[in-house]
Amino acid sequence: MHQSTMNRHIQNKWQKMFFLPFIFLLFMLSFISCKKTNNSVSFIALGTSCKISLPVYDSKLQKYVNFIYDEDDRLSYRKENSEIAFINKNAGKAETVVSENTYNLIKRAVNLCYETDGAFNPLLLPVIREWGFDNGEYRVPTDGEIEEALKLTHIEDLVLNDEKKSVFLKKEGMGLDLGGIAKGYVSDELYRMFIEDGIKSGTLNLGGNVFVFGDKDYKVAIQKPYGQRGEYDIVETVKNQAVITSGAYERYFEKDGKTYHHIIDPSTGFPSKIIYNSVTIISNDSTLSDALSTAIFIKGDELISKEKLLHSDIKVVTQ
Ligand code: FAD
Ligand code: MG
Repeated sequence: MHQSTMNRHIQNKWQKMFFLPFIFLLFMLSFISCKKTNNSVSFIALGTSCKISLPVYDSKLQKYVNFIYDEDDRLSYRKENSEIAFINKNAGKAETVVSENTYNLIKRAVNLCYETDGAFNPLLLPVIREWGFDNGEYRVPTDGEIEEALKLTHIEDLVLNDEKKSVFLKKEGMGLDLGGIAKGYVSDELYRMFIEDGIKSGTLNLGGNVFVFGDKDYKVAIQKPYGQRGEYDIVETVKNQAVITSGAYERYFEKDGKTYHHIIDPSTGFPSKIIYNSVTIISNDSTLSDALSTAIFIKGDELISKEKLLHSDIKVVTQ
C-alpha cells in the first residue's frame, strides 16, 4: 500500500475507534426532507462525521471526499505537516508563508475576532491545551496556568503580511486553532466546487455543520440540546443556506461533579457560561455562520443585536 494511503487508512481506523461513540452525539441536525435521487457518502474527517448527498454517481462523490481529507491535512493543528502546524511551530521565531486559501481563512478569522469583540478567537490553543481538549487528556488547570496561557492569546500578536501571504505569531507558545471556523469554510469551498461542476442541488453535513442548496426549500430539524439523538422542537425551512450550531452538550468532560465544555470564553480562559444550550446561525455564508455560532454561544444577546445589524440576512435560533 502506498505510504500516504496507508497513513490515511491507519488514521481513519484510529479516528473511527475514538470518534464512533461521538458520532451519534455529533449529528446535531437531521434532515427531514431531501431529494430521493441523491447518492450519499458518510465518512470521518475534520475530527468528526461527515456526509455528502448529491444527485451524482457514487464514483463522482469521491472527489469531494478527497477534497475534505486534503483540507483536513492542510488546516488541522493536530497534523504535524499542516500549514497551521508550521505556523504554530514557528511561533516566536519566524513568519510562515502559506497558501492563498489558508491565508484568506486566517485573515477572515482575525477579522471575525475583532467583529465579535474577541468572543471568537482563533488563538485559544494554549488555553485549550491546558484543559486537554486538544488530545482528550482532560484536566482542570489552575488559575495561574490559565492566566499564563491567556497571555498567549492576544489577536494583536498575530501578524499578517498580505503581500507575502505570511503569518507570524509573535510569542513562543502561541497557537492557531481553526476548529471554530474551518468546517464552515470547507463547506463554502465545496459549494463553490459543486456549482463549478454543474451540480444543482444537494446537502452537506460536516459534524453538524449543515449546508443545503438547490431550487427547493429544505426542512432542517435542529437537534434538541440534551435530547435523544434526532429529537427536535424546531424545524427551519431553508434554501441555499448553512445551518450551523454550537452547543456545550457534544464535547465536554466531568470532574468532581462539574461539567467542563469545549467552547472557551477568551475573557476568562474557562468554558463559557451557558446563556443558551445551543445557538444556530442560518445564513448563506457557512464560514460566517460557523464563527458566529461559537461567538454568540459565548456572548449571547448583546452580540446577536450587533451581528444582526452587520449582517441583515442572518437568522439566529437559540434553545
Ligand atoms: P464550534 O463552536 O464551531 O467550535 C468550537 C471549537 O473551536 C472548540 O472545540 C475549539 O477547538 C475552538 N474554540 C473554542 N473556543 C473558541 C472561541 N472562543 N473562539 C474560537 N474558537 C474556539 N477534533 C478531534 O478531536 N480530533 C481531530 O483530529 C480533529 N481534527 C480536526 C481537523 C480540522 C481541520 C478541524 C476544523 C477540526 C478538527 N477537530 C478535531 C475538531 C472538531 O471536528 C470540531 O471542530 C470541534 O469539535 C468543534 O466544532 P463544533 O462545530 O462542535 O464547535
Ligand atoms: Mg463554530
